[in-house]
Amino acid sequence: MTHHYPLETLELYRHGKMSLLGRIVCSAHLKKCPECREKLNELATDDRFLDNLRQSMRSYGNIAGVAVGSSKNATSDDPADWDV
Ligand SMILES: [Zn+2]
Repeated sequence: MTHHYPLETLELYRHGKMSLLGRIVCSAHLKKCPECREKLNELATDDRFLDNLRQSMRSYGNIAGVAVGSSKNATSDDPADWDV
């Protein structure tokens, strides 16, 4: 196996945006190729990093909301409504 998948292609694979045949070929390659698996893992790690970031932004918002929260006017600046 000398051909490796570029990151862009792995990204497509990850999001299921490949053709069925492409996915079959790619997953067969991934089974044999630790290098491409590693790249795929890194992409997934980036995602988790972003998720964590969003989550900590949310909890920060909640904490701030509690700290400020004596005013009970429910407006749209409730962090739970943020479409992050
Ligand atoms: Zn590979």
